[in-house]
Formats: sequence, C-alpha cells, structure tokens
Amino acid sequence: MTASRTLKVKPAYTHKFKKGYPLLTLDALLDNRVDMEEGDIFRLVDERGAFIAKGYYGRQNKGHGWILTSHEGEEIDQAFFDRLVAEAVCKRSQLYHQSETTAFRVFNGEGDGIGGLHIDYFDGYYLIHWYSRGIYAFKPLVLQALENVVSYKGIYEKKRFGRQGGTYVEDDDFVKGEKATFPLMVKENGMKFAVYLNEGAMVGFFLDQREVRKVIRDHYAEGKSVLNTFSYTGAFSVAAALGGASKTTSVDVANRSLSKTIEQFSLNGIDYEAQDIIVEDVFKYFNYAAKKQQTYDMVILDPPSFARTKKHTFSATKDYKRLLKDIIPLTEAGGMIVASTNSASLSMKKFKRFIDSAFKEKGGSYNILETYTLPKDFKTLASFREGHYLKVVFIKKEF
Ligand code: SAH
Repeated sequence: MTASRTLKVKPAYTHKFKKGYPLLTLDALLDNRVDMEEGDIFRLVDERGAFIAKGYYGRQNKGHGWILTSHEGEEIDQAFFDRLVAEAVCKRSQLYHQSETTAFRVFNGEGDGIGGLHIDYFDGYYLIHWYSRGIYAFKPLVLQALENVVSYKGIYEKKRFGRQGGTYVEDDDFVKGEKATFPLMVKENGMKFAVYLNEGAMVGFFLDQREVRKVIRDHYAEGKSVLNTFSYTGAFSVAAALGGASKTTSVDVANRSLSKTIEQFSLNGIDYEAQDIIVEDVFKYFNYAAKKQQTYDMVILDPPSFARTKKHTFSATKDYKRLLKDIIPLTEAGGMIVASTNSASLSMKKFKRFIDSAFKEKGGSYNILETYTLPKDFKTLASFREGHYLKVVFIKKEF
C-alpha cells in the first residue's frame, strides 16, 4: 500500500472525477486496465498528465477502488484517517447524545470520504465493514483512528470480501477491546433490538430503516392489521405492534426468522403468541392469502435486491412490479402499502413507475403519502447516485 501509480483517465470521464465522482472503474481509464496490488495508492491524471485525484486500489463488485482526495499534496496517512473519522463522528454528535437511540452508522463509505469502509455503532461497540482487501490493508490506520477519536467498549469487524468478491468471510469477528455478550441490546427511538456482532454478515436489524420504523409506529400502525413480508427478525413488526397494531403477521422463508422474531417481540414486552410468525416463501403465502380472501390494513414489502429460493428467483429491478401486483389485492381499500427497495439500480423514478403500472394493471387507484431515503447518518454524495440506494414509498390504496 505504499506504491503510487499514475492512471490516465479518458477525456470523457475527466469532468466526472473533477466533480467528485468517487468510484474507480476500468472503463474510465485510457488503457481500460490496472496493474496494482490491493491497497496501492494511485494518482488519477487527465490525458495531458494533469493531476485530478488520489485514491486506493481495491476490487469490489462495484469497481476497482475509491478516490480519497483531490489535493495532490495530501498524504494518505494516519492524520488523514484521524481527520475523516473525527469529522464523521462529529457529524453524528446528536445521535451519540440520544439516550433512546444507541445504534447508528458512524462512517458511511464514500459519503464520509472513504469508499469501501463502513463503521456502525452499537451501544459502545464499533463494527467495521471492510468491502475489499484493498481497504483492509489500511486496518491498522483505521483502528488507530478509532483509538484516537472515540472511546469504545470493543471493536468487531466484517470482512465482506470473499474469493468471489462481495461475499462475507466466515471468521471470528472480534478485533479488540472488551468482548460483548450476545445478544447485545440496543435501542432505537425507544424500541429494543437484539444484535449479534459475531454471527455472520447480518447482525439482526438494518440501521438504515430507522425513520421508517419510527413513522410506522408513531403514525400508521394504530388499530391496523399488518402483513410484514421478507420480515427477517421482524423489526417492522415490532414497530407496528408497539404502535398499537391489532395484529402483525411476519413472513420470511429463513428458518432462523422464527426464533429471531420471537426474541425481538419478547424484548419489547410484546406477547409473540398473539402475533403470527410464518416461515414460508412469501409468494406461496400470497397464493394462500388470496385463496382465503385474506386482506390487511397495511402491507410492508422489503425484499432483498436479489433472492433465490427453491421455487423463485426475485430481482428487484425485474420483479418488483409483480410483487406489487400480488399484494394490491391483499391490501384493504383505504389501507397502506409500504414499499421499500435497497436496489441501487432501481431509481426512485423507476420505482414509482412500477407502482403506477402495477395499480393501472390491477385497475385500482392510489396516492403516495410519503417517501423516505437514507437517514442522515448514512451520508451520501450528490455526485454518486448509486450510494443513495434506499427508497421507501408509503402508498395509500384508494380502491
Ligand atoms: N425487512 C427486514 C429485512 C429484510 S432482509 C427488516 O426490516 O429487518 C431480506 C429477507 O428476505 C431475508 O430475511 C430473507 O430470508 C428473506 N427472503 C428472501 N427471499 C424470500 C422469499 N421468497 N420469501 C420470504 N422471504 C424471503
């Protein structure tokens, strides 16, 4: 990670990088290739050799590395990491001071100046996600930066780079400090969630839906029957039940979802036996519910961007409209559909077009009441649209 290579950018891409685009892709380079080691520092220059920016090489499914600075004289050293981590922590100072919320994102990749690096906070513990071997090469500097900037109970990590890239490396995720006892109990706007930092890539709940859970609890759930699909550990069901839902039904195909959902309900003092928790493929459940003419006041759709089960392959960019068409008949007139996607390649515009044509094809009418994107701690760049991956639309079904 000491070498510094010079990479020439195609004229058509120069402007984009000068405007702050953070991701290095091969098609942007004059000779369409790089010959570097993970973690090497590169200098991007234009066709005539004039400096544009500096970055590090790291293979991710997204690209080949990230821009770190547009200042030629800036060294990528301890002081650089200290400064960026300190700035990121400072921007979250409000969250650090909220006693009702003890879990949030501290460092959000390129949005905070270093693509491929995420750091989350869970009640005194820090969880670092490394998205390439390249960024992992800077581990000593990142750990030292945390040491210099915050006090912590312990640090855990997720190496999210496998041989195929992008996959999670199964390992002991403890790094240093005090080991946590799991489940770690965290709070989010007063709701409680059980978190496991040492059990695979997913920790038990998704921090980016904080605002959506809150608005469901505070404004939409009271007295409502709620169907939560792709429910994972049931975080949306917990929010709805705490908001006074008459009943929640959580559906997820993964076996683990049953015990995990029971755990989240119990932590929050909700009688899980009064709720339905169903381990099944949602598409199979839709058929069953349609046959029984079952309807709900609120349906939450939060599928992964891609999923493959024995019977179905789901891709948000191809199949979200079909999903909407499946649930429109299961939603009461006057009821709500909360449609969420974390697919970076499905834009809000296209997502709304799916919603529109799903209703047209089903012959119904709707109104969009609210939309949500990432909360502020998931800092993004205006120059990098792919970073704004979350879109959540609250759709009222009129008839
Ligand atoms: N909505 C959740 C997060 C969803 S994560 C939350 O708020 O926490 C995606 C989930 O979809 C996973 O738990 C996975 O098991 C589930 N899943 C994927 N394909 C599915 C299918 N066809 N039917 C039911 N669940 C599915």
